Amino acid sequence: MFLGSHMSIAGGLHMAFQHIGAVEGTALQIFTRNQRQWKIPALTQYIIDLFGVAWEQWGDYPIAAHDSYLINLASPKEEQAQRSRIGFAEELRRIEALKIPYLVTHPGSHLGEGVDAGIERYVANLDRAIEDSGTDKAMVLLETTAGQGTNLGSTFEELAAIIDQSTHPDRLGVCYDTCHTYAAGYDIRTPEAYAETFDAFGRIIGLDRLKFFHINDTKNEFNSHKDRHEHIGEGDIGLEGFRCLMQDTRFANVPKTLETPKEKDLKDDVRNLNTLRELAK
Ligand SMILES: [Zn+2]
Ligand SMILES: [Zn+2]
Repeated sequence: MFLGSHMSIAGGLHMAFQHIGAVEGTALQIFTRNQRQWKIPALTQYIIDLFGVAWEQWGDYPIAAHDSYLINLASPKEEQAQRSRIGFAEELRRIEALKIPYLVTHPGSHLGEGVDAGIERYVANLDRAIEDSGTDKAMVLLETTAGQGTNLGSTFEELAAIIDQSTHPDRLGVCYDTCHTYAAGYDIRTPEAYAETFDAFGRIIGLDRLKFFHINDTKNEFNSHKDRHEHIGEGDIGLEGFRCLMQDTRFANVPKTLETPKEKDLKDDVRNLNTLRELAK
Protein backbone atom coordinates (compact mmCIF):
# COMPACT_ATOMS: atom_id res chain seq x y z
CA MET A 1 0.00 0.00 0.00
CA PHE A 2 1.35 3.40 -1.02
CA LEU A 3 -0.26 5.89 1.34
CA GLY A 4 1.08 9.28 2.32
CA SER A 5 0.60 13.01 2.07
CA HIS A 6 1.44 16.25 0.32
CA MET A 7 4.46 17.72 2.09
CA SER A 8 6.14 21.12 2.22
CA ILE A 9 9.51 21.75 0.56
CA ALA A 10 10.34 24.75 2.77
CA GLY A 11 14.07 24.61 3.43
CA GLY A 12 14.78 22.62 0.26
CA LEU A 13 13.21 19.89 -1.90
CA HIS A 14 14.87 17.14 0.15
CA MET A 15 13.08 18.37 3.31
CA ALA A 16 9.84 16.75 2.08
CA PHE A 17 11.36 13.34 2.90
CA GLN A 18 11.93 14.31 6.51
CA HIS A 19 8.23 15.18 6.82
CA ILE A 20 6.89 12.11 5.03
CA GLY A 21 9.23 9.91 7.07
CA ALA A 22 7.95 11.49 10.28
CA VAL A 23 4.37 10.36 9.52
CA GLU A 24 5.54 6.98 8.16
CA GLY A 25 4.05 7.76 4.77
CA THR A 26 4.75 5.55 1.75
CA ALA A 27 3.61 7.97 -0.98
CA LEU A 28 4.44 11.63 -1.43
CA GLN A 29 3.28 14.68 -3.30
CA ILE A 30 5.25 17.95 -3.47
CA PHE A 31 5.43 21.21 -5.35
CA THR A 32 8.90 21.39 -6.90
CA ARG A 33 8.86 25.21 -6.63
CA ASN A 34 6.89 28.03 -5.00
CA GLN A 35 3.47 27.31 -6.50
CA ARG A 36 2.25 30.91 -6.19
CA GLN A 37 5.04 32.55 -8.20
CA TRP A 38 5.85 32.46 -11.90
CA LYS A 39 9.56 32.63 -11.23
CA ILE A 40 11.18 29.20 -11.07
CA PRO A 41 14.66 28.97 -9.53
CA ALA A 42 17.17 26.81 -11.40
CA LEU A 43 17.59 23.20 -10.40
CA THR A 44 21.28 22.55 -9.73
CA GLN A 45 22.99 19.16 -9.82
CA TYR A 46 23.56 19.52 -6.08
CA ILE A 47 19.82 19.90 -5.42
CA ILE A 48 19.06 16.94 -7.69
CA ASP A 49 21.63 14.76 -5.90
CA LEU A 50 20.42 15.77 -2.44
CA PHE A 51 16.86 14.91 -3.48
CA GLY A 52 17.92 11.54 -4.92
CA VAL A 53 19.83 10.54 -1.78
CA ALA A 54 16.97 11.57 0.52
CA TRP A 55 14.48 9.63 -1.65
CA GLU A 56 16.65 6.52 -1.48
CA GLN A 57 16.87 6.79 2.30
CA TRP A 58 13.09 7.13 2.54
CA GLY A 59 12.47 4.01 0.44
CA ASP A 60 11.28 2.75 -2.93
CA TYR A 61 8.03 4.74 -2.73
CA PRO A 62 6.18 6.77 -5.36
CA ILE A 63 6.19 10.56 -5.71
CA ALA A 64 4.06 12.97 -7.70
CA ALA A 65 4.66 16.68 -8.17
CA HIS A 66 1.78 19.17 -8.39
CA ASP A 67 2.20 22.08 -10.79
CA SER A 68 1.75 25.78 -9.99
CA TYR A 69 -1.76 27.14 -9.46
CA LEU A 70 -0.93 30.07 -11.74
CA ILE A 71 -0.69 27.91 -14.85
CA ASN A 72 -3.79 27.98 -17.08
CA LEU A 73 -3.21 26.16 -20.35
CA ALA A 74 -6.85 26.76 -21.36
CA SER A 75 -6.62 30.55 -21.14
CA PRO A 76 -7.98 32.46 -24.15
CA LYS A 77 -5.56 35.29 -23.28
CA GLU A 78 -2.48 34.54 -25.35
CA GLU A 79 -0.04 36.15 -22.93
CA GLN A 80 -1.27 34.00 -20.04
CA ALA A 81 -1.36 30.91 -22.25
CA GLN A 82 2.22 31.50 -23.36
CA ARG A 83 3.44 32.02 -19.78
CA SER A 84 1.60 28.85 -18.84
CA ARG A 85 3.22 26.83 -21.63
CA ILE A 86 6.68 28.02 -20.62
CA GLY A 87 5.99 27.33 -16.93
CA PHE A 88 4.45 23.91 -17.58
CA ALA A 89 7.32 22.82 -19.84
CA GLU A 90 9.77 23.86 -17.12
CA GLU A 91 7.79 21.89 -14.50
CA LEU A 92 8.04 18.81 -16.74
CA ARG A 93 11.80 19.26 -17.16
CA ARG A 94 12.17 19.63 -13.39
CA ILE A 95 10.31 16.44 -12.52
CA GLU A 96 12.17 14.46 -15.18
CA ALA A 97 15.50 15.72 -13.77
CA LEU A 98 14.34 14.68 -10.29
CA LYS A 99 13.09 11.31 -11.65
CA ILE A 100 9.55 12.04 -10.41
CA PRO A 101 7.21 10.15 -12.76
CA TYR A 102 4.05 12.28 -12.45
CA LEU A 103 3.05 15.92 -12.75
CA VAL A 104 -0.47 16.46 -11.37
CA THR A 105 -2.30 19.42 -12.89
CA HIS A 106 -5.76 20.98 -13.02
CA PRO A 107 -6.94 21.12 -16.64
CA GLY A 108 -7.30 24.92 -16.73
CA SER A 109 -10.19 27.37 -16.91
CA HIS A 110 -11.88 28.42 -20.14
CA LEU A 111 -12.74 31.86 -18.63
CA GLY A 112 -16.06 32.14 -20.43
CA GLU A 113 -15.16 30.70 -23.84
CA GLY A 114 -17.16 27.54 -23.21
CA VAL A 115 -16.16 23.95 -22.46
CA ASP A 116 -15.52 22.73 -26.02
CA ALA A 117 -13.38 25.73 -27.00
CA GLY A 118 -11.60 25.50 -23.65
CA ILE A 119 -10.74 21.84 -24.11
CA GLU A 120 -9.51 22.49 -27.64
CA ARG A 121 -7.26 25.29 -26.43
CA TYR A 122 -6.11 23.30 -23.42
CA VAL A 123 -5.09 20.32 -25.52
CA ALA A 124 -3.22 22.46 -28.05
CA ASN A 125 -1.24 24.22 -25.30
CA LEU A 126 -0.67 21.02 -23.32
CA ASP A 127 0.68 19.19 -26.38
CA ARG A 128 2.93 22.12 -27.22
CA ALA A 129 4.26 22.36 -23.67
CA ILE A 130 5.02 18.61 -23.66
CA GLU A 131 6.89 19.00 -26.97
CA ASP A 132 8.70 22.19 -25.94
CA SER A 133 9.83 20.58 -22.68
CA GLY A 134 12.03 18.08 -24.52
CA THR A 135 11.06 15.45 -21.94
CA ASP A 136 10.16 11.94 -22.98
CA LYS A 137 9.05 10.12 -19.83
CA ALA A 138 7.34 12.46 -17.38
CA MET A 139 3.59 11.80 -17.30
CA VAL A 140 0.92 14.46 -16.88
CA LEU A 141 -1.90 13.48 -14.54
CA LEU A 142 -5.09 15.45 -15.17
CA GLU A 143 -6.70 16.02 -11.81
CA THR A 144 -10.46 15.66 -11.42
CA THR A 145 -11.76 19.10 -10.43
CA ALA A 146 -14.77 20.36 -8.48
CA GLY A 147 -16.08 22.35 -11.43
CA GLN A 148 -15.90 25.71 -9.71
CA GLY A 149 -16.45 28.68 -12.06
CA THR A 150 -15.14 27.94 -15.55
CA ASN A 151 -12.71 25.21 -14.48
CA LEU A 152 -12.42 22.28 -16.88
CA GLY A 153 -12.04 18.64 -15.85
CA SER A 154 -14.98 18.16 -13.47
CA THR A 155 -16.63 15.43 -15.55
CA PHE A 156 -15.13 12.13 -16.68
CA GLU A 157 -16.27 13.04 -20.22
CA GLU A 158 -14.16 16.22 -20.23
CA LEU A 159 -11.07 14.35 -19.03
CA ALA A 160 -11.64 11.64 -21.65
CA ALA A 161 -12.02 14.32 -24.36
CA ILE A 162 -8.66 15.83 -23.40
CA ILE A 163 -6.94 12.45 -23.59
CA ASP A 164 -8.69 11.59 -26.89
CA GLN A 165 -7.79 14.89 -28.56
CA SER A 166 -4.17 14.98 -27.41
CA THR A 167 -1.43 13.80 -29.76
CA HIS A 168 0.42 12.50 -26.67
CA PRO A 169 -2.14 10.19 -24.98
CA ASP A 170 0.70 7.91 -23.83
CA ARG A 171 1.94 10.79 -21.62
CA LEU A 172 -1.46 11.35 -19.97
CA GLY A 173 -3.19 9.82 -16.94
CA VAL A 174 -5.66 10.91 -14.28
CA CYS A 175 -5.33 11.87 -10.62
CA TYR A 176 -8.61 11.25 -8.77
CA ASP A 177 -9.30 13.75 -5.97
CA THR A 178 -12.07 12.40 -3.71
CA CYS A 179 -13.13 15.88 -2.52
CA HIS A 180 -13.27 17.39 -6.01
CA THR A 181 -15.15 14.51 -7.68
CA TYR A 182 -17.69 14.45 -4.85
CA ALA A 183 -18.20 18.20 -5.27
CA ALA A 184 -18.57 17.60 -9.01
CA GLY A 185 -21.42 15.11 -8.48
CA TYR A 186 -19.76 11.68 -8.23
CA ASP A 187 -20.91 9.98 -5.03
CA ILE A 188 -18.84 7.38 -3.14
CA ARG A 189 -20.64 7.41 0.24
CA THR A 190 -22.15 3.93 -0.06
CA PRO A 191 -20.85 0.73 -1.69
CA GLU A 192 -23.52 1.12 -4.40
CA ALA A 193 -22.66 4.74 -5.16
CA TYR A 194 -18.94 3.92 -5.06
CA ALA A 195 -19.38 1.05 -7.54
CA GLU A 196 -21.43 3.24 -9.87
CA THR A 197 -18.87 6.06 -9.83
CA PHE A 198 -15.92 3.81 -10.68
CA ASP A 199 -17.95 1.89 -13.26
CA ALA A 200 -18.49 5.23 -14.96
CA PHE A 201 -14.80 6.11 -14.66
CA GLY A 202 -13.83 2.76 -16.18
CA ARG A 203 -16.34 3.08 -19.01
CA ILE A 204 -15.60 6.70 -19.91
CA ILE A 205 -11.86 7.10 -19.16
CA GLY A 206 -10.54 3.60 -18.40
CA LEU A 207 -9.29 2.46 -14.99
CA ASP A 208 -5.76 1.94 -16.36
CA ARG A 209 -5.50 5.74 -16.69
CA LEU A 210 -5.98 6.21 -12.96
CA LYS A 211 -2.44 6.64 -11.60
CA PHE A 212 -2.82 8.61 -8.37
CA PHE A 213 -5.38 9.54 -5.71
CA HIS A 214 -5.81 12.62 -3.56
CA ILE A 215 -7.62 11.43 -0.44
CA ASN A 216 -9.61 14.29 1.05
CA ASP A 217 -12.94 14.55 2.82
CA THR A 218 -14.95 17.70 2.11
CA LYS A 219 -16.48 20.59 4.04
CA ASN A 220 -19.21 21.04 1.44
CA GLU A 221 -22.29 19.05 0.51
CA PHE A 222 -22.62 16.69 -2.46
CA ASN A 223 -22.55 18.33 -5.91
CA SER A 224 -21.62 21.73 -4.40
CA HIS A 225 -18.89 22.45 -6.99
CA LYS A 226 -16.87 23.85 -4.09
CA ASP A 227 -13.36 22.73 -3.23
CA ARG A 228 -12.69 22.71 0.52
CA HIS A 229 -10.81 19.78 1.99
CA GLU A 230 -11.66 18.25 5.39
CA HIS A 231 -10.08 15.58 7.63
CA ILE A 232 -10.91 11.98 6.75
CA GLY A 233 -14.27 10.92 8.16
CA GLU A 234 -15.03 14.40 9.51
CA GLY A 235 -16.61 15.77 6.36
CA ASP A 236 -19.58 15.10 4.12
CA ILE A 237 -18.14 11.96 2.46
CA GLY A 238 -17.62 10.14 5.75
CA LEU A 239 -15.74 6.97 6.68
CA GLU A 240 -17.79 4.51 4.61
CA GLY A 241 -16.77 6.08 1.31
CA PHE A 242 -13.10 5.94 2.23
CA ARG A 243 -13.50 2.34 3.40
CA CYS A 244 -14.79 1.42 -0.08
CA LEU A 245 -11.75 3.06 -1.69
CA MET A 246 -9.16 1.68 0.73
CA GLN A 247 -10.56 -1.85 0.29
CA ASP A 248 -10.74 -1.71 -3.50
CA THR A 249 -8.09 -4.19 -4.64
CA ARG A 250 -8.07 -2.66 -8.14
CA PHE A 251 -6.35 0.38 -6.62
CA ALA A 252 -4.19 -1.43 -4.05
CA ASN A 253 -1.00 -0.32 -5.83
CA VAL A 254 -2.17 3.13 -6.90
CA PRO A 255 -0.46 5.80 -4.72
CA LYS A 256 -2.72 7.81 -2.43
CA THR A 257 -1.84 11.07 -0.71
CA LEU A 258 -3.71 13.32 1.69
CA GLU A 259 -4.17 17.02 0.99
CA THR A 260 -5.98 17.71 4.24
CA PRO A 261 -5.35 20.64 6.61
CA LYS A 262 -2.41 20.39 9.02
CA GLU A 263 -0.08 22.31 11.30
CA LYS A 264 3.71 22.11 11.37
CA ASP A 265 3.60 19.24 13.90
CA LEU A 266 1.87 17.02 11.28
CA LYS A 267 -0.36 15.46 13.96
CA ASP A 268 -3.40 15.76 11.69
CA ASP A 269 -1.61 13.76 8.99
CA VAL A 270 -0.71 11.05 11.50
CA ARG A 271 -4.35 10.83 12.60
CA ASN A 272 -5.76 10.81 9.05
CA LEU A 273 -3.25 8.21 7.85
CA ASN A 274 -4.03 5.98 10.81
CA THR A 275 -7.74 6.26 10.01
CA LEU A 276 -7.11 5.22 6.40
CA ARG A 277 -4.84 2.33 7.41
CA GLU A 278 -7.60 1.07 9.73
CA LEU A 279 -10.16 1.33 6.93
CA ALA A 280 -7.88 -0.70 4.65
CA LYS A 281 -7.88 -3.66 7.06
ZN1 LIG B 1 -4.74 19.82 -7.22
ZN1 LIG C 1 -6.16 17.39 -5.14
